[in-house]
Amino acid sequence: MRLDKFLSNHGVGSRKDVKALLKKKVITVNEKVVTKSDIKINPETDIIKVQGEMIHFEPFIYLMLNKPAGVVSSTHDKDKTVIDLITGLEHYDLHPVGRLDKDTEGLLIITNDGQFSHDVLSPKKHVNKTYFANIDGIVTNQTVEQFAQGVTLDDGYHTMPGDLTCLSVDTNNNTSEIELVIQEGKFHQVKRMFEAVSMKVTYLKRIKMGDLSLDSSLKPGEYKKLMQNEINLVR
Ligand code: URA
Repeated sequence: MRLDKFLSNHGVGSRKDVKALLKKKVITVNEKVVTKSDIKINPETDIIKVQGEMIHFEPFIYLMLNKPAGVVSSTHDKDKTVIDLITGLEHYDLHPVGRLDKDTEGLLIITNDGQFSHDVLSPKKHVNKTYFANIDGIVTNQTVEQFAQGVTLDDGYHTMPGDLTCLSVDTNNNTSEIELVIQEGKFHQVKRMFEAVSMKVTYLKRIKMGDLSLDSSLKPGEYKKLMQNEINLVR
């Protein structure tokens, strides 16, 4: 790996910042001062220091994004993607862990750890996904019971049980606010589950994956690096 790529991936600064530091002769590889940004290093075995401080190799990175509406959950697209929102980590080969619809907001994990994504998305792992939604229609105890039995989607698939909680109803406007916990991640699953009971989702936000809740201080479009104890909450 190139030295400048390693250093910018590990938060030392942009490639330009790294160049400036190299010029100042404050970067060492195996205790030797280096001045060239394109030298190749082995991040697993070489000892890299910036101003005497060792930069520890982190092969994997995990970010919590509060996905805004209007961006797509993929790596490349003609429209703006969730990866386009992440700056300064271009060399990590990041991908989103699963998908949220373009108009859905909320918790999306972004990583370069393919095994982690595979584990979290595997139906065998039964990772809970919790959604908040505004619904056109009045959610009743009967709806809650229907979701608890699973509902039959438009393609005939009968879902696993969903744990539906009605937070409030507005009988004047014929709307409800709900929270739904599901373990599956079929295409448009939440929207289609409500369609199955003749209701419509008008706003959808994922608020939790496993036991990891969306950080309420993150505005739509903002993200933060997850620490190991937070990553462990997901699966
Ligand atoms: N279910 C949906 O319908 N849409 C999402 O984005 C996520 C779950």
